[in-house]
Amino acid sequence: MTTDTRPFVDGFGRPVTYLRLSVTDRCDLRCTYCMPQHMIFTPRKSLLGVVELDRIAEAFVAGGVRKIRLTGGEPLVRKDLPELLRGLARHLAAGRLDEITVSTNGSQLARLAETLADCGVRRINVSLDTLDPDQYREITRGGELSDVLEGIEAARRAGLSIRINSVALRGVIEEQFERLLRYAHSNDMALALIETMPLGETGTSRADQYLSLTEFRKQLSDKWSLSALERKTGGPAQYVEVKQTGGLLGFITPLSCNFCATCNRVRVGSNGRLYTCMGHEGSVDLRPALAGTEPARQLDLAIRDALMRKPERHGFRIGQAGVNGIGRHMSVLGG
Ligand code: SAM
Ligand code: SF4
Repeated sequence: MTTDTRPFVDGFGRPVTYLRLSVTDRCDLRCTYCMPQHMIFTPRKSLLGVVELDRIAEAFVAGGVRKIRLTGGEPLVRKDLPELLRGLARHLAAGRLDEITVSTNGSQLARLAETLADCGVRRINVSLDTLDPDQYREITRGGELSDVLEGIEAARRAGLSIRINSVALRGVIEEQFERLLRYAHSNDMALALIETMPLGETGTSRADQYLSLTEFRKQLSDKWSLSALERKTGGPAQYVEVKQTGGLLGFITPLSCNFCATCNRVRVGSNGRLYTCMGHEGSVDLRPALAGTEPARQLDLAIRDALMRKPERHGFRIGQAGVNGIGRHMSVLGG
């Protein structure tokens, strides 16, 4: 039987063109909003190998995915990441994929920035929530700010385009915003602020950490001239140009301003599970298809079937009624 060649669409007619692939759920940091200090990771034997990750990526590329983001956990702690990237680069060379990007905490970037660039990566997101070394250590439970700053320098030297991602933590971002903005924009990097999402138990209070970016943006307008950009970037960030710095500032507001109607993405975890929506508990195990006699066709069928059941929108809520969240962590499904 031949494989379906139509591009992937979900049950609501939304084209699926973007895959976020979590290459490991492990991480060298323990950010307070992401995972607990003593996180229980997927057993090593259950993590997908490079060949399996490559097969899954290939199935999505065949179904019309144009962009793949490698994420985690911390993707740069995976030793065979360059091998995976070199394999995926064939889709770039063949024009079947527009780009491969990476999300990283930056801790290993000084060592690996050149390798990423050599493997065809042109853009990366680096997570950085504060420029205060003590506060950074506290938020990440042990991280060194200097490692990240050196990593960012190395990435710039390697020619990578960088967006700084800052989770907007109440009590942190109000004070850190201007420093982060000036740092990012004076180094030619965009800054994106992200609302804290209630994913997994972290040993901290979500309600205390959460700040509505819709509200925060209004406060920023008192001091900064923010002009909304006409062009859509295809992602969930709403971008503005900051007149005083000339740089780009993005707002990612899954809670205060939902963007599900234009969702074009799915996630695959390093455990082989396909998550069609970050805000729902459901997932589909792709391993049986991977282990089948015709993995390409079986993967295609399993993915198409799951996409028909992709929810219309997430059900997150953080408000006076409490927190309506999801049990699994961002690091499992690929944030
Ligand atoms: N370790 C890498 C990093 O930190 O960039 C990649 C994986 S991390 C899960 C991807 C992004 O998700 C980061 O920008 C991180 O700040 C964000 N993140 C993690 N947990 C989150 C949460 N509960 N709510 C909102 N963003 C979260
Ligand atoms: Fe690790 Fe990224 Fe999660 Fe922080 S946000 S604990 S760096 S996976």
